[in-house]
Amino acid sequence: MGAGNTIDDLLGDRLHIMANSRSVIDLLPYLDRHIGGLVITGAEAPARCREIRNARSDLVVAMDPESHTQAVATPGAPFGLRTSHGWWRLDMAGLAEVLDGQLLNKASYAVTPTCFIPHGEGDADQVLASVFALTNKLARTDTVVLLPVSYKWLQPPSLPRLAGLIRSSRHPVALVVQADGDPMDRRGVMDGLRQLCRSCPRLLLWRTDLAAFDAMVHGALGSAVGVAASLRHGVKPRLEGGGGGWKPYTSILVGRLLRYVRVENLQDWFAHSEPWTCGCSVCQGQPLTRFDDTDLDRLAAVQHDVNELYALHGELAGTVPGHDRHEWWRARLTDAVEHHRRLALQTDTEPDVPKVLLAWRRTSPLPLPQPRPQ
Ligand SMILES: [Zn+2]
Repeated sequence: MGAGNTIDDLLGDRLHIMANSRSVIDLLPYLDRHIGGLVITGAEAPARCREIRNARSDLVVAMDPESHTQAVATPGAPFGLRTSHGWWRLDMAGLAEVLDGQLLNKASYAVTPTCFIPHGEGDADQVLASVFALTNKLARTDTVVLLPVSYKWLQPPSLPRLAGLIRSSRHPVALVVQADGDPMDRRGVMDGLRQLCRSCPRLLLWRTDLAAFDAMVHGALGSAVGVAASLRHGVKPRLEGGGGGWKPYTSILVGRLLRYVRVENLQDWFAHSEPWTCGCSVCQGQPLTRFDDTDLDRLAAVQHDVNELYALHGELAGTVPGHDRHEWWRARLTDAVEHHRRLALQTDTEPDVPKVLLAWRRTSPLPLPQPRPQ
């Protein structure tokens, strides 16, 4: 590696797959070791991380401690961790201990156990500031600051403040945007995210979906895409143990449509015509409508998704950042809209083009004004 900042070299243009510790082993064969990586969530993350890195030291693997799904940050305690002995509020020494612990478990870099940062409630602004006041005291170059925020931070009144703090960070920042449902459906959020990516060179977008690509086209350093719907946007902390047992419907990423589709919808669309097939190493020419709700089919669906993500990401990584990359994305979006039209013609159905796809075709907003030097 060059004389530059090695953690930025490690993260640059890298698309991580984010998955629970239960399912990561089955995804390993499909990860791209050059431009891919893994972010592991869940209770067994440290053990899985160690196992995987012992076997595959060439893979980039990190962990999201998911404190943001369990607790709301306060100005005095923005970091915490659930342990077998209960909730651990972390002071500076505790924070350093947790980060060192991740590295001892062979993580390629450490990730701060940041709690959820709400918006507009009392001291939310101080909470956000305290995350950076504390992490900027960490004299280390192996750490990413996880920043799980309400989507409201990306709306116009709050965006400059968020951008200023992210730019002040001495570490790369992994942004997680929380909303009920897709944060990109909220007013101003997609444009706000684009402005943030253009204004903050060391920003990662984590726990997201295809928004990862729009972010990287607009200058995000890297990204992490979730394999399950619950890992594709931030969530508010759960007060109790959470849903448990509930299994979401099977959905798959249809690359040419640039969207996730419920298998049930695919089956409806192709009820009276030849279903589309997939040539990836998992599907091997089989129809996309074949996935069922069994555990095996769910796993195959996720493996297919990972193949689709890296096919798309391989294209992105092959472009030159800036104009060339923008043109590539614009062409992919135009293709996706055209494939929706073909789908409608072939199946005599009326599949809507997702709003976010149309929004991504809009012209980008200008970057945020940079503060004048003091
Ligand atoms: Zn496939």
